[in-house]
Amino acid sequence: MSTINDTPPQTHSGPPGAGTMQRKTPHVLVIEDNPDNMKLFEWLLEDLEYDFTGCVTGEEGLEWLASNKPDLLLLDISLPGIDGKEVAKRLRAQKSFELLPIIAVTAHAITSESDEIMVSGVSTLVTKPIDEEHLMEVIKSFLEGDHESKNGETS
Ligand code: MN
Repeated sequence: MSTINDTPPQTHSGPPGAGTMQRKTPHVLVIEDNPDNMKLFEWLLEDLEYDFTGCVTGEEGLEWLASNKPDLLLLDISLPGIDGKEVAKRLRAQKSFELLPIIAVTAHAITSESDEIMVSGVSTLVTKPIDEEHLMEVIKSFLEGDHESKNGETS
């Protein structure tokens, strides 16, 4: 048996918002195959002063996630190999990623498709073309604990 593991195990863990208000720079993983979108996401995250890792395929992202634990995943749905829905499903099947905020990003604004995307386990869905301000707000709402439930007034 051989173990390929050249990075030390991540010791940082624990439920979000537990205990101290110790502020660690949030780390966001972006899985996106389109270079222009990747650049845009990188700029936005730099603006927010978050750490950034970019992967261009789902496979690459999953490999990175096998030894890293980001605070949020920005996930393109249309990818060259396995798609974003498959990435989300595989992550949600793992205990350590049950609660990871996953923001799906897709050009498909079709309702049936968005249902399918939500079922894969993503936390929310943002459509392309990207409204930068909106996306930044969504990201911040997950990472800075002021996520307001948007349960409409059921009257
Ligand atoms: Mn894509």
